[in-house]
Amino acid sequence: GDFPIETDTIVIGAGPGGYVAAIRAAQLGQKVTVVEKGNVGGVCLNVGCIPSKALINVGHKYHDAKHSEDIGLIGESVKLDFSKVQAFKDSVVKKLTGGVSGLLKGNKIEVVSGEAFFVDSNSLRVMTEKAAQTYNFKNAIIATGSRPIELKTFKYSKRVLDSTGALALQEVPEKIVIIGGGVIGLELGGAYANFGTQVTILEGTDDILGGNYAKQMTQLVKKNFKNKGTEIITKAMAKGVEESDTGVVVTYEAAGKEEKVSADYVFVMVGRRPNTDEIGLEQAGVKLTDRGLVEIDKQCRTSVPNIYAIGDIVAGPQLAHKASYEGKIAAEAIAGHPSEIDYLGIPAVVFSDPELATVGYTPEQAKAEGIEVKVGKFPYAALGRSLALNNSEGFYQLVTRKEDGVVIGGQVAGPNASDLIAEIGLAVETGITAEDIALTIHAHPTFGEIAMEAAEVALGSPIHIL
Ligand code: FAD
Repeated sequence: GDFPIETDTIVIGAGPGGYVAAIRAAQLGQKVTVVEKGNVGGVCLNVGCIPSKALINVGHKYHDAKHSEDIGLIGESVKLDFSKVQAFKDSVVKKLTGGVSGLLKGNKIEVVSGEAFFVDSNSLRVMTEKAAQTYNFKNAIIATGSRPIELKTFKYSKRVLDSTGALALQEVPEKIVIIGGGVIGLELGGAYANFGTQVTILEGTDDILGGNYAKQMTQLVKKNFKNKGTEIITKAMAKGVEESDTGVVVTYEAAGKEEKVSADYVFVMVGRRPNTDEIGLEQAGVKLTDRGLVEIDKQCRTSVPNIYAIGDIVAGPQLAHKASYEGKIAAEAIAGHPSEIDYLGIPAVVFSDPELATVGYTPEQAKAEGIEVKVGKFPYAALGRSLALNNSEGFYQLVTRKEDGVVIGGQVAGPNASDLIAEIGLAVETGITAEDIALTIHAHPTFGEIAMEAAEVALGSPIHIL
């Protein structure tokens, strides 16, 4: 019998889903409590998007510094101080998570450090270090995120690492094996390959990235991996690992034969499972799908009308901006606004070499839905900026609806794809046409010009290609 604390909206988890939902709910006049059992910022800020991008960035700089003889840079004496790289990465995480804490505080949100567990559909218990506290709420938003899947044959240990362990290595390993050619495996594999590690990637299916990107895009990534000495073995089934004090030997099967590969570490990056167990969902009456995800409607409402769910624990891509988007919708729905989910404009980016990005429809998806399209495709190689930066591989394509020229999607493989996809996202969200983009004056010489060029191709009147 403790005294329950009353709150309007309680948010479980302070990742990019939860903290954004909390801020929006507070802006809309709710008394908001956030419960977080780990660190504010969740996976994304602490052990995901942000630290991985810090490592990837330094990896690119190091690799470029060493391999730019063709533009007159002789990088023989470039040295790597990896503990300093890690300190830089940690400082970035600290700045950002500190910033989020400040935002929560500034919005008068109570942040409780502890683990939440539903008692029923209007109350939950929070286990803090010292005691248990009951919170009664009018509405709850569940944003507990996901964790790495562990394979029975590859139990995590000192040398069998998940993404968190892989991000925290204090020395550049000589050799690593990565199980899984998905986004996380390719991003971290790419970072270490740039630092000089010999990387072997074992992928069970016949292509990297789970068939989510066109062969023309994945081919570019595979070619660059190959150039850095990385071996990508597809249709390879990882069977088991023998671990010693100094390394691992991984056994896998490929082309009907059993093979072995030794390394310092093995990274297991085969996907993430939703944190929907151990939070008492059954006590609240919240229904799960057969895949263990929380079932929601278009406003992120679960089977229990005053409980909402967002982010990695619901269907859709496991992306930070998707979690934040849903967080705003849930908070607005609680405030009685008519906000609803529309996933079409959610971009996806792979921070590989080169970067890959997609938003809206691919030409194939449009065709499958019976939408006739006109694709405007433009190569980076015909862009002045690309040549001046000695970075000209890849392409940009706009997918437009044939009948009216409205942009319904786009794909980019090449330098700055992660930023360039934003303009296509804006087009998809606002329903503008290829002509609108072609008429927008883009500064020269920039990567951004490629949007205008691709739009001109879609219109049939390109200036800079024949
Ligand atoms: P999370 O960020 O997982 O946060 C959930 C929070 O809930 C955690 O802090 C957890 O401690 C807390 N919690 C769980 N249970 C309880 C409980 N019972 N009580 C209290 N608190 C609880 N996405 C991108 O968009 N771009 C990227 O570049 C990108 N890179 C990534 C790189 C890596 C290595 C990884 C692992 C992921 C990456 N992601 C990226 C995915 C992204 O991190 C997730 O999609 C995102 O963090 C999901 O947000 P969320 O709010 O749903 O959950």
